[in-house]
Amino acid sequence: MPLRTLLILIAIAVVILAVKRLFSPGRPRANKKLEQGKMVQCAHCGIYLPEPDAIAREGRFYCSQAHLDDDRDRSHK
Ligand SMILES: [Zn+2]
Repeated sequence: MPLRTLLILIAIAVVILAVKRLFSPGRPRANKKLEQGKMVQCAHCGIYLPEPDAIAREGRFYCSQAHLDDDRDRSHK
């Protein structure tokens, strides 16, 4: 087989692989969804939210600064 024909075949294969990758972007997103991390529950209102979005204090999690403050006020009264 002439070298030129081989190079053309390789070029075609590369183009096909590139096009396939462009039209099937599903896999990386599916993996990312699984890696989103664990959910934690707000100790004040009970809503579930991703741990990175929660405010942690003394081993408990809160959905917002307001609920952290509310819970702290209640425990001191
Ligand atoms: Zn809350």
